[in-house]
Amino acid sequence: MTDFADSNWEAVIGLEIHTQLSTRSKIFSGASTQFGAAPNTQACAIDLGFPGVLPVVNQEVYRKAVAFGLGIGATIGLTSVFDRKNYFYPDLPKGYQITQLEAPIVMGGTVDITLEDSSQKTIRVTRAHLEEDAGKSLHEDFHGQTGIDLNRAGTPLLEIVSEPDMSSAEEAVAYARYIHQLVTFLGVSDGDMSQGSLRCDANVSVRPKGSTELGTRTETKNVNSFRFLERAINHEIERQIRVIESGGRVIQETRLYDPDKDETRPMRSKETATDYRYFPEPDLLPVEIDEAYIQQVREQMPELPAAKAARYVSEFELPEADARVLSSERQLASYFEQVVELSGDAKLASNWVRVELLGQLNKDGVEISDAPITPAALGTLIARIREGRISGKIAKTVFEALWSGAASDPDSYIEAEGLVQVSDSGSLEPVIDAIIAANPKQVEQLREGKGKLMGFFVGQVMKETGGKANPQQVNDLISKKLGL
Ligand code: ADP
Ligand code: MG
Repeated sequence: MTDFADSNWEAVIGLEIHTQLSTRSKIFSGASTQFGAAPNTQACAIDLGFPGVLPVVNQEVYRKAVAFGLGIGATIGLTSVFDRKNYFYPDLPKGYQITQLEAPIVMGGTVDITLEDSSQKTIRVTRAHLEEDAGKSLHEDFHGQTGIDLNRAGTPLLEIVSEPDMSSAEEAVAYARYIHQLVTFLGVSDGDMSQGSLRCDANVSVRPKGSTELGTRTETKNVNSFRFLERAINHEIERQIRVIESGGRVIQETRLYDPDKDETRPMRSKETATDYRYFPEPDLLPVEIDEAYIQQVREQMPELPAAKAARYVSEFELPEADARVLSSERQLASYFEQVVELSGDAKLASNWVRVELLGQLNKDGVEISDAPITPAALGTLIARIREGRISGKIAKTVFEALWSGAASDPDSYIEAEGLVQVSDSGSLEPVIDAIIAANPKQVEQLREGKGKLMGFFVGQVMKETGGKANPQQVNDLISKKLGL
């Protein structure tokens, strides 16, 4: 919570999120969208709006936008129309951006966010529309000059606009995270924020607590990390309160968040829609889709995080919090589900994936897609614990060997290293007898009902057998021998 929470002010926040759709080619041309190519090698005449060219809509862009709309329970626009938004900027050589104004592809929909204190809130989405990205101005590379890279021109974007329903940076970040999770789950976007695949514009205003009127807002553009989003919003809230409390008024303007200075500062005064002289794009027909198409997209959609988490609770009997962790990322969920399938034990799978696997991934800074242990190997390892072939303790050493590359297959490693759990009583009994003989005082106490001492004896046997004894069996054998 920030200081203003106790003040007489409340904040109002609406987000516009631009997400790059992960298509191979651009929204209206066949040029590649690959990130990181040499400047100005991937923009064709259509992206640059040369005279006489004709844009053609990339079908995949529609499929992704419709999937997103269905993911938030929105109304899908059966007839959507592209418009030209005219403005001048060096990285927009066409002089206009093709976007959707009056008839977007996605209308309405909601997002349920969960906050730190477990409370929930529903944020309404106003709309999501398709548009093309502009090029990039590069200010750092040339001293006193600006470089223009047009590779990004024509990259497909889905701009997701929320209602001004959020009232803190925490809520805004939870909403943005939800959108990020949804678009990555659906395969709509790769969501890579460091490459600009998801950028947030934060609209922020403040008003006296309890007021129903909206205050004047500012829009902080292109915030490309959740941490910066939180900071930019909190700075803006505090700045606006300061301005008003010192007798000034907030000016509607576009601002920029500077992570190096950790501040927002003015970029330009806010344009209004009339400044852009929007008009329907004459080179593209309205796009008509029907219910059958929507149904087809719906059938191809993967199970979404909330549904997955609910299923993990009902089907696998996992605690809600664990289910939420395991369903939070698409690759993690898929990994976990494979481990469950192979091990036949969802609870053990959940523990091993959350504790051991995620622990190691975090520790080594490795993404799950690069995990050195395959779901098949982990599934097998867990199956061996379940079968009583190895103990949980030995399993950890096998896990470490798999992680470091010392082992590639759990079974052959267990075999080669002689790690199989000793569970024939013939070889355990002499060990137990020796330990009983060596610890008469503890035997006495155990007989007198000091149950805690059982742990001591089991521990001794485990130590003696290098962790290979089956603890439950040791327990049983000791009880029997001492007549407990
Ligand atoms: P524009 O298209 O000019 O940026 P919109 O009216 O479409 O303006 O709103 C853009 C975003 O600003 C939306 O997310 C909306 O919820 C948010 N917004 C509008 N008014 C306010 C306000 N007074 N305070 C905070 N956010 C606002
Ligand atoms: Mg805007």
